[in-house]
Amino acid sequence: MKAIAVLPGRADSARLTEIAKPSVTDIPAGRGVLVRVLRVGLDGTDKEINAAEYGTAPPGEDMLITGHESLGIVAETGPAVTELAPGDYVVARVRRAGGSLYDLIDTPDMTTDDAYYEHGISRVHGFLTEYYVEEPRYLIRVPRQLAPVAVLLEPASIAEKGILEAYEIQRRLKVWQPRRAAVLGAGTIGLLATMILRNRGLEVTVFGLEEPPYLNSELVQALGASYVSTKQHSLREAADGGYDLVFEATGYSPIVFDAMGGLLAKNGVLILSSITGGTRRTEIPADAINLDFVLGNKVMFGTVNANREHFEAGVRDLALTEAQHPGWLSRLLTHPIHGLDHYAEALDALGAPGAIKVYVEIATA
Ligand code: BGC
Ligand code: ZN
Repeated sequence: MKAIAVLPGRADSARLTEIAKPSVTDIPAGRGVLVRVLRVGLDGTDKEINAAEYGTAPPGEDMLITGHESLGIVAETGPAVTELAPGDYVVARVRRAGGSLYDLIDTPDMTTDDAYYEHGISRVHGFLTEYYVEEPRYLIRVPRQLAPVAVLLEPASIAEKGILEAYEIQRRLKVWQPRRAAVLGAGTIGLLATMILRNRGLEVTVFGLEEPPYLNSELVQALGASYVSTKQHSLREAADGGYDLVFEATGYSPIVFDAMGGLLAKNGVLILSSITGGTRRTEIPADAINLDFVLGNKVMFGTVNANREHFEAGVRDLALTEAQHPGWLSRLLTHPIHGLDHYAEALDALGAPGAIKVYVEIATA
C-alpha cells in the first residue's frame, strides 16, 4: 500500500513509498483494530518535519511515515475488541505511552520522557497511508454525523487540552468565573479555541495579523466573537481592562511577552500552545512584566498534545458547533488534496493565502 514518508534530518525528502499492509494480528491478544484511513490533515508540524527542523524516525529505521491528524473507518477488529466495531469512524490519538509515571496512567501528553512517541512526528509512523493497526485505547470513536468534519478533531483536542488545563489550574481561585477571553492567532488552533470558548459562553476577542474582512475574521464573527487585526491595533491598546483567559496560538514567540505584559486581567491565566523551533530573541520590560504577574496573581503555562479526555471533549464541542452553527466547521476545510500521490501539493498549500485546513483525501467511506 502507499504511504508518504520523509527521511528525518533531510530537507524536502517527503516522497511516496510502498509499505506492507498491516494486519489486525500485528497487535497481540486479539486486541488489534485495523483502520482504513479516509483523511489526514496537515499543519505546521508537517512543514517543519519536511524542512528537517523536526521529526524522528522509529528506532532502527531511517524513514518516518508522516501525518498525525487522522480520520479513518474501522475495517476489522480482533476477537477481543469490544470497544469498536467495523464501520465505526475513528480518530487516533497522536502520542503513545513512554516510560514516565504520566505515561503509566495513560496521560502520555504529560510525559517527562525526553524521547517521546508521536505518530507521524516522533519515533512512530503516522497516518499518511492507506491502513494502520492500533489498540482500542488509542482510538476515539466519532459519530457518523461528524465524519465530514472529524479531520478537525486532532487540532481541536489540542485547544481543548489547553482550555481544560486552564480551568483545572484556576480551581486555585475557588470562585473563578471567566467572562472575557482573548485568542492570539486566527489559524486552525485559534479558530477552534474560539469555538470552544464561545461554546462555554465567554466573550472572545481574536487577534490576528491580517486585516479584516477575510475568511478567518468572518468565521470568528460567525461565532459571535470579535476580530482585531494587530496591524490596526496593538495588543496593549485593545486590552481594555484585561482578559481572564488568553490562548496564544500564533507560532510567534515574542508575542508571549506582550501578552504577559498587560493583556491579562488580575488572577488571569495565559495558555501557551505554539511550537517554536526557531532561535528568535526579543527584548522585554522584565521588571514591569514580573511586577504585574506578582501583584496580579497571574498564571502562565505551556500545553502540548492531548489525551483521551481532550479528544472526547473535542467530539462534544464539534457536535455542539454543528448543531448551533451548521456549516461553520466545513468552512475551515479549505484545501482538500485528492489522493496520496498529490502530497506535494498539500505541502505547497500549507501557508498559502486563504488556507485554513489542508488535508489529504485518501479514501471515501
Ligand atoms: C501535534 C501534537 C504534538 C505536537 C508536538 C503538534 O502538531 O498536533 O499532537 O504533540 O505537534 O510534536
Ligand atoms: Zn499538529
